[in-house]
Amino acid sequence: MNTNGKKKIAILGSTGSIGTQALQVIEEHPDLYEAYVLTAHNKVELLAEQARRFQPEAVVIANEEKYEALRDALADLPVKVYAGTDALCQIVQEKPVDVVLTAMVGFAGLRPTISAIRAGKAIALANKETLVVAGELVNRLAHEYHADIIPVDSEHSAIFQCLAGEVSPIEKIILTASGGPFRTFSMEQLATVTKAQALHHPNWSMGAKITIDSASMMNKGFEVIEAKWLFGVAPEQIQVVVHPQSIVHSAVQFADGAVKAQLGMPDMRVPIQYAFSYPIRLKSSFDRLDLCKTAALTFEEPDTRRFRNLELAYEALHAGGNMPCIVNAANEVVNRAFLEDRIGFLQMSEVIAKTMREAAFIPQPTYEDYVQTDAEARRIAASCVGGTK
Ligand code: NAD
Ligand code: MG
Repeated sequence: MNTNGKKKIAILGSTGSIGTQALQVIEEHPDLYEAYVLTAHNKVELLAEQARRFQPEAVVIANEEKYEALRDALADLPVKVYAGTDALCQIVQEKPVDVVLTAMVGFAGLRPTISAIRAGKAIALANKETLVVAGELVNRLAHEYHADIIPVDSEHSAIFQCLAGEVSPIEKIILTASGGPFRTFSMEQLATVTKAQALHHPNWSMGAKITIDSASMMNKGFEVIEAKWLFGVAPEQIQVVVHPQSIVHSAVQFADGAVKAQLGMPDMRVPIQYAFSYPIRLKSSFDRLDLCKTAALTFEEPDTRRFRNLELAYEALHAGGNMPCIVNAANEVVNRAFLEDRIGFLQMSEVIAKTMREAAFIPQPTYEDYVQTDAEARRIAASCVGGTK
């Protein structure tokens, strides 16, 4: 907490789905929170508009080619303007920053997150890819530099909330999944689904990459890996349960058989706000859950034959080392290829499995190994989809 008593928040990816919702949370509590740094990849106009509204100390545009456009757009404001990944990694370390919300997409989130951890900053973690790729390293560094990692992902926030006040170990995590738009589709139907169909998630409005990952269940696979690193459980202790209504955000079972779940409307502002306010809860104006108006809550087993990615993620978790990093890189490539109509829906898992077989396995990777693995796996996957990494 700083001079004016407000928590100063750096948002990595303020123009995205999580980033803009985080700004809504800050706007609801102007006496408690301040957007200290805002960053984006490409969206100069929106970033400039946000800077005008929230008057942060600094803004960073990751794509250096956009620097001048951003600087010009903000010429009349006292806000500092930077560009590039190095700037991103430096700014999160600035002394006044209390919390870094990692709301950027993909492997690109790893370096700035590690940088923030090294400065002992509290991390509100939305960028699950960071833990998927390098959970062991990130945890070790967080421990060494006394950096708290608070989950933002709704399922992990739910688990985190279920654990509040508990001193006994987890017996099992029940990780809920909506099942996405293709939950009831046959293999034949899955073979021909389009990106437009995949981008239409039944319960959540999110960025394009995670929406495709949700349709392919890779998102849930990643969340299994994320849960392992956040809560220190074995893969066998994480059960994925399909719950199409997205009301039960996840649950924890304890040694006595008791199960605690966290419920609520599907609204990411709740877990974002909790990550900022933890351990207290703040008042909010967000929609309330009315159980009497809620249709039946249903639960079913996931079908890993139709949604092979879930199995591949468990496989990667069991293999350990750099295998989850390989899966993540291959997935980033196929996700983009699917969005660009270069491959079909079912091909995505095939390319990921092939990349897992072909990329060099490293049992105890260093940061540099992860960077190399990411590049190698992207090359392999890209060669299968005939396009860019
Ligand atoms: P999004 O695509 O809507 O936004 C991504 C943001 O990151 C944008 O501001 C973009 O400018 C920035 N960004 C992208 N690539 C970058 C790069 N290379 N360097 C710097 N900045 C970059 O994505 P989103 O849906 O908000 O998701 C963000 C993260 O949060 C992802 O890791 C996702 O898995 C996770 N997450 C999202 C949701 C959700 O509801 N959207 C829920 C749980 C977890
Ligand atoms: Mg989630």
